[in-house]
Amino acid sequence: MLERAARLLASSRSAIAFTGAGISAESGVPTFRDRDGLWKNYKAEELATSEAFRKNPKLVWDFYRWRMRLILKARPNPAHYALAELERLGLLKAVITQNVDDLHREAGSRNVIELHGNIFRVRCTSCSYRENLKESDTLEEFLSMEGLPKCPECGSLLRPDVVWFGEPLPREALERAFELAERADLVLVIGTSGVVYPAAYIPYIVKENGGKVVEINVERSGITPIADVFIRGKAGEVLPRIVELVKEVVV
Ligand code: NAD
Ligand code: ZN
Repeated sequence: MLERAARLLASSRSAIAFTGAGISAESGVPTFRDRDGLWKNYKAEELATSEAFRKNPKLVWDFYRWRMRLILKARPNPAHYALAELERLGLLKAVITQNVDDLHREAGSRNVIELHGNIFRVRCTSCSYRENLKESDTLEEFLSMEGLPKCPECGSLLRPDVVWFGEPLPREALERAFELAERADLVLVIGTSGVVYPAAYIPYIVKENGGKVVEINVERSGITPIADVFIRGKAGEVLPRIVELVKEVVV
């Protein structure tokens, strides 16, 4: 299986990766469906909605600040680094991710398309104000702040710049992702349950256009039925081995 995946990847010309929360699990970021994905007995699905934010912005902000702190402590794992290396080798055009944790970029991936936003960005609920807290160096201050964060331009409430359940995906990111998927001759599907749409269309688009689907997951997912190669295992263990094999074929 590993050899087959490596051969397919080495002979591909426009491969992409499609990743989900599972790729960050070994970095210590719980997936939403993990038991330790629970926060104060709330399910993420109950907090990551615009309705929850309308009803109780303080609760939702407390949850997001907790997640930001947790993700700040997390480092990329060998799976993130393996994808960055494939890009450097010219074997991966882009990483399309449903994760908001920034770990692909931290690992050195350059062409990262974030379908569900980024937890370190905030945006205004009224005007077009946006800020990346990591880049503007205001993260510490933000995390220790009492009360609710307000827009410096108009005074309205700020919200996390992430896509909540039931919200549309950012159009530009989705269009770029779909275009890449249409042209891709291979997609590496890693650590996603493949049940959150429209993101989960991506492997289907690749398949429909004649590309191969190579999946890595600790269990079967919604994508497994269309996978040409399914490798059961942890992303942080499987991906570096594939990269080693690919290098033997390529160089
Ligand atoms: P998910 O929680 O639905 O599924 C995670 C998948 O990863 C499962 O199929 C599981 O079997 C697999 N998995 C777990 N550990 C793995 C490992 N070590 N190696 C390989 N596979 C592993 O995640 P999803 O499909 O991304 O959808 C959940 C939504 O929640 C996403 O839209 C995302 O935006 C959000 N989310 C993001 C993060 C993050 O940014 N790290 C974390 C949790 C949730
Ligand atoms: Zn504003």
